[in-house]
Amino acid sequence: MSKRLPDLPSSPFPTVMAEKFRPSESSGEVGKLSPMMAQYAGIKAQHRDALLFYRMGDFYELFFEDAEIAAHALGIVLTKRGKQEGQDIPMCGVPIERAEDYLHRLIGQGHRVAICEQIEDPAEAKKRGGKSVVRREVVRLVTPGTLTEEPLLDPASANSFAAIASAETPLEFGVALVDISTGAFRVESVTADGLEAALARLDPAELVLSEDLMRDPAVARLTREPPFALTPLAEGLTKGTSAERRLKTFFGLSVLDGLGQLSGAEIGAAATAILYVERTQMAARPSLGLPMRQAQGMRMEIDAATRASLELAKTLAGQREGTLLAAIDQTITAPGSRLLAERLAAPLTDPEAICQRLDAIEFFAGADHLRMQIRTALKAVPDVCRALSRLSLDRGGPRDLGLLCEGLAAAAAVAEGLGQAGPLPQAIAEAQAAVTKLDQAIEAKLRDALAPSLPLNRRDGGFIREQYDVGLDAARALRDESRSIIAALQARYGELTGIKPLKVKHNHFLGFFIEVPQAPGERLLKPPHDGFFIHRQTMAGAMRFSTRELAEIEAKIASAAGDALAREEAIFAELAGLVLTYQAEIRGMAQALAAIDVAAGLAELARRLNWSRPQVDRSLAFVIEEGRHPVVEAALRREGQAFAGNACDLSGKPGKGGRIAVVTGPNMAGKSTFLRQNALIAILAQMGAFVPAKRASIGIIDKLYSRVGAADDLARGRSTFMVEMIETAAILNQAGERSLVILDEIGRGTATFDGLAIAWAVIEHLHEKNRSRALFATHFHELTRLSEKLGRLDNLTVRVTDWNGEVVFLHEIVPGAADRSYGIQVAKLAGLPPPVLARARELLREFEAADRRTRLDQSLAELPLFSVPALVEAAVAPKDLLGDALDAIHPDELTPRAALEALYKLKALRTQLR
Ligand code: ATP
Repeated sequence: MSKRLPDLPSSPFPTVMAEKFRPSESSGEVGKLSPMMAQYAGIKAQHRDALLFYRMGDFYELFFEDAEIAAHALGIVLTKRGKQEGQDIPMCGVPIERAEDYLHRLIGQGHRVAICEQIEDPAEAKKRGGKSVVRREVVRLVTPGTLTEEPLLDPASANSFAAIASAETPLEFGVALVDISTGAFRVESVTADGLEAALARLDPAELVLSEDLMRDPAVARLTREPPFALTPLAEGLTKGTSAERRLKTFFGLSVLDGLGQLSGAEIGAAATAILYVERTQMAARPSLGLPMRQAQGMRMEIDAATRASLELAKTLAGQREGTLLAAIDQTITAPGSRLLAERLAAPLTDPEAICQRLDAIEFFAGADHLRMQIRTALKAVPDVCRALSRLSLDRGGPRDLGLLCEGLAAAAAVAEGLGQAGPLPQAIAEAQAAVTKLDQAIEAKLRDALAPSLPLNRRDGGFIREQYDVGLDAARALRDESRSIIAALQARYGELTGIKPLKVKHNHFLGFFIEVPQAPGERLLKPPHDGFFIHRQTMAGAMRFSTRELAEIEAKIASAAGDALAREEAIFAELAGLVLTYQAEIRGMAQALAAIDVAAGLAELARRLNWSRPQVDRSLAFVIEEGRHPVVEAALRREGQAFAGNACDLSGKPGKGGRIAVVTGPNMAGKSTFLRQNALIAILAQMGAFVPAKRASIGIIDKLYSRVGAADDLARGRSTFMVEMIETAAILNQAGERSLVILDEIGRGTATFDGLAIAWAVIEHLHEKNRSRALFATHFHELTRLSEKLGRLDNLTVRVTDWNGEVVFLHEIVPGAADRSYGIQVAKLAGLPPPVLARARELLREFEAADRRTRLDQSLAELPLFSVPALVEAAVAPKDLLGDALDAIHPDELTPRAALEALYKLKALRTQLR
């Protein structure tokens, strides 16, 4: 589903407004609006593509069309405020304390929101006098790819935006990926052909690019129905030296050499990303890591269609449940879960790097007790990077400091557990080193400073422990003492007036006041009290007064409470500053903990489900013994059923090419499951995980393709068959000797003979030209004859037995070709009505009698190999069966009834031949 931002009108104002209140217009025009609305109009004009949250006291208010959009999107009441040229101005508002919740919903619906705050005390504005309005400024733009607040984020998924820039060399792009919520920043180069696959792998929530790039054909193709929000930037500020300058300034570098050899396009993409960070975060500076360059060719290429068809991280319906990711995720922490998703999205192609990851899993799989101990310690590890990021943006609260403190303590426990474990494999040793590197004094300092229970917001105060800071303790004592002074005052006033129920109370409007019931209150209006008690309000049944003394005490209390809060805020800033000085180390520690979590989780999975360590090398091997499909197996297990493991061997030799297996068998026998499980095992092996097989030996696969024929793509308005052919064409043009190709029922989307001819030609091309290791499932039994001519082609079939007319699926893959289709038996299992089944059986008998298949088989057998045109010709115009049947009829010898039957038969034969 597309998440394209809804098309906001070019101006959210009624046309007249937009014309009149551009910020550049003279203030004379603005005079028609109240000063506040004039300020609003000026700010809104700079943020036309976002909903403007305009701060007014304890609310964010929205006006005009923004209000209408938000009221509709959030289901809140649309009201009005004042008039503009005789028309009501629509308005709606969200209370500050619930703003995150509303933001979450608006962003989820693809909106962008500009947050406009009051940036001065209303008292200051009053001092300026006249009709001065409190100064306001947009402090942040909230967009789908730049979220940082916990309630807006999914713990298990990264939240990033990608920025792309074109290169000097045509057909090449730089791609940068930034996750502001964790500080991760990566850049890479891709070809125009690889752009879609790269974005499918990176899975950004938002794509940022300059407007002129939108016209590039490779980009235009991607942005038609994008699975991300699309943000075009008007400026061309991100090229050449200005791009370099932007990067250097942001990171405080004098040269970029330390970032590796970044290409012009990579620098352009990274600079576009930085520009967008600045645009959305305004004055705040997130703590981003330096851009890490990802070299090309280090990952298995998996295009978007293959990812979708294998349901790696999302099912075809867009869910996580039912995916490979969900089936293998045994991680304990949210960062661990995100790292697992990242590794699954980008399996490696370097056997040594894969081996290192496998060593780490083997280590944990062989140490049940240690694994349990580490996984228990990991339970206390919070999402440190996200807390760090909020602190760096000055959006953090006391709980973020608390999370860091807990994180540091938990990291120490994990490091200690590993420290007792004897020699560690390299990946774990490196992770342990990163975890231990941090100065434990930071944790001690935080633990000393923070109170046992922490409020969400700094402004709530009370988060610094007593006796941590002398100044804070003094301010708090004064504040609390003042409270007891109020209590004493209440007692004294009660005595003085003789009114027992007299109370000193507080509200936001009046501040402190004295409240007495109405009847005795009347007495305070008269001498001797009237000079001392000042009447403020008369309520139903009560009267309110103040005194000069009370006002003085109030001022003292307010300043003591304010002093205490200011002191707490200062300590907060100091602690946050301390933490941020170590941000690189803390981020390193968090990544190391995530890697430990992933290794221990995959080891847990391997132990529970009896998965094995794959062998991965640079050969062209592909040998799987007793392989299983992890998702189907899990589903069957839940129903108490067993999965039948199956072998697969597609091994080839470099220079000669891999083997192709043509899999035939009845519907529902397990062909698709078999095909996919082999692809999934390859992905798992190369991401550095154990695999659901007794043994797996895999020579590095550089590109993986998986296509299912007859898949619908109605959303893009393409016919099923067209999609099938476009995708098949992509494979035949790109797959090579190191690729693995999975084709399921290609050619089914068109008429039988055309489909067969295409499938036949595709297999020939794969065998002769691509030479990839491949699996090809088909209902065209005729294709099994190709094994007679193609040296590296094997036939596999799925065993079934026929028991009392019922088909029994054994799900066992064996060498050979299917004897028949069992289509009608499967239709019976599916519950087709008996009369339909009976009629189908009758027709099948007739069709078989016509023996069309045998004749076609004969024609195929006679064909010269690789002569597809001849095949198509034979397939489209087989021997003249209709003519033969007509010749067999002798009208003079027929009874009227036999003549009618002959006519029916001729019609049936004609239908069959169509
Ligand atoms: P069709 O040709 O109709 O697409 P198919 O041959 O591709 O069918 P699958 O969709 O792979 O069949 O499998 C059908 C069902 O059979 C699966 O949903 C699963 O429940 C079961 N199944 C498949 N393979 C196995 C297996 N190896 N062991 C146990 N059950 C299996």
